[in-house]
Amino acid sequence: MRKRVVVLGATGSIGESTMRVARALPEHIEIVGLSGRNNSERLLGLAQEFPSAHLCAGSEASAEELRAALPGRQVHHGHEGLCELASLPEADLVLVAIVGTAGLRPALLALESDKDLAVASKEILVMAGEQVMATAERMGGRVLPVDSEHNAIFQCLEGQDPSTVKRLILTCSGGPFRNASAADLASVTPEQALRHPTWSMGRKISIDSATLFNKGLEMIEARWLFGIPMEKIDVVIHPQSIVHSMVEFVDGSIIAQMSTTDMALPIQYALTYPERYAGACAPLDLTKVGTLDFEAPRTDLFPALDLARRAGTAGGTLPAVLNAANEAAVEAFLAGRLSFPGIWEGVARAMDTVPFVEHPTLDQLIAADHAARLVVES
Ligand code: NAD
Ligand code: MG
Repeated sequence: MRKRVVVLGATGSIGESTMRVARALPEHIEIVGLSGRNNSERLLGLAQEFPSAHLCAGSEASAEELRAALPGRQVHHGHEGLCELASLPEADLVLVAIVGTAGLRPALLALESDKDLAVASKEILVMAGEQVMATAERMGGRVLPVDSEHNAIFQCLEGQDPSTVKRLILTCSGGPFRNASAADLASVTPEQALRHPTWSMGRKISIDSATLFNKGLEMIEARWLFGIPMEKIDVVIHPQSIVHSMVEFVDGSIIAQMSTTDMALPIQYALTYPERYAGACAPLDLTKVGTLDFEAPRTDLFPALDLARRAGTAGGTLPAVLNAANEAAVEAFLAGRLSFPGIWEGVARAMDTVPFVEHPTLDQLIAADHAARLVVES
């Protein structure tokens, strides 16, 4: 039976890799829903390629254009439209690959509508991991990680007794400034920060990879996905990005997952889980890679890891504050209103000033998110 999949954020970088997976496995994957916010040409192209997919455009105007080009097609729009796609009766699985937290309500709705959830948008697990995992548990749905590190850990944990896990080791490329000095970091431009050495990705995550907030967000994401306390989550710098992450067990064994730097593999595993197929991803030739390096992160120069550890340990509203402040700071940096180290400073300031709520409701999380953005923008 084919898995019927809705892709929210189909016109982005993860969306594009997802389409490669769907094209490689037409007998296993059927695309039944596609959304894109402001790239209607690409959405139109995908709509023609996947003729039974419901569509969701960013605005009413682009929805009208799509309807005119594709008579008889179901076209939704806006946040409401994302929610409609997330709860489509004919879908088995919803992949959320929207940058930021706009996919949170659709993600919860997908689980509440009895679907499995594949999560690329780490921000939603950072903001509301407890709520997402509790909803999955209540509904009996799966939360399948697409982020390469979490997909790797998910694979390493299969068949293992959770009580034997000593720690999760997230690998991190180190980003474009792995060897930079404090003085270099002070003058980084958006253009330099967008140039990632090993992965080609959307703008927000590329900046996050340069500040190491990407790894910080991933530490908190791992905490919720795998129900593991923060003190058992470590980060190691691995510039080749071949080992996607590892799990250390109590007996001293470390199990690692390796593959090429292509998001098609984790996406495919999340979509076809628990099955494996020969698909879109090229094989890995370790003799060509030659060397795998590992080193400790420079937490003094890159405070994102310590800030994330603090947020993930405290829980409550603090991860939502870290995440929202980071989103606002990245936007300000890309617009030239904030320096590169200003991103860390803005996040730290928001964490120190937004009032803490230990057991927040979803509305309190959203309020903390808004307050954190205001702190950064003030
Ligand atoms: P991207 O910017 O390339 O694409 C984002 C997609 O979301 C686009 O389709 C866009 O139209 C849509 N979108 C953006 N804002 C929206 C909004 N407010 N409402 C509705 N739709 C919106 O981003 P990406 O690199 O594909 O990343 C997507 C998510 O996946 C991010 O959360 C990122 O952290 C995560 N992720 C990405 C990668 C990667 O390799 N690109 C790896 C791991 C995790
Ligand atoms: Mg990742």
